[in-house]
Amino acid sequence: MPIDATLPYDTDNIFARILRNEIPARTVYEDDYALAFHDINPQAPTHILVIPKGAYVSWDDFSARANDAEIAGFVRAVGHVARAAGLVEPGYRLLANAGPDSHQEVPHLHVHVFAGRPLGPMLSKT
Ligand code: AMP
Repeated sequence: MPIDATLPYDTDNIFARILRNEIPARTVYEDDYALAFHDINPQAPTHILVIPKGAYVSWDDFSARANDAEIAGFVRAVGHVARAAGLVEPGYRLLANAGPDSHQEVPHLHVHVFAGRPLGPMLSKT
């Protein structure tokens, strides 16, 4: 179900549990600011999620409350993940859902990294 991104951070959301190592993830990268792992239900040949280590619901929450080091660290981690996966030359798409109209389902900020085939139009028309 799409989540209400204005709600307070839910410390039991699935990505918070991955950060606490309570449930497994196929990690591809980790540093002080971010964790990246394969999406459990990939929508492209490469589908990686990058999440900040801090407790932020959405891009809105993160951009309003995170400090400059957290923001820089997270943005650099997304770029690093794409470069390390060899995605720069063929190309890739970043997507971050925020709130109900976007169909955000997990209430911890995550950036999707899609790649591995021509990705088609940016949005469905429906
Ligand atoms: P969103 O709709 O932007 O909130 O995307 C949530 C994404 O999280 C979906 O692509 C799910 O497939 C993915 N997801 C949910 N649970 C897990 C999990 N345990 N490990 C990896 N990816 C997950």
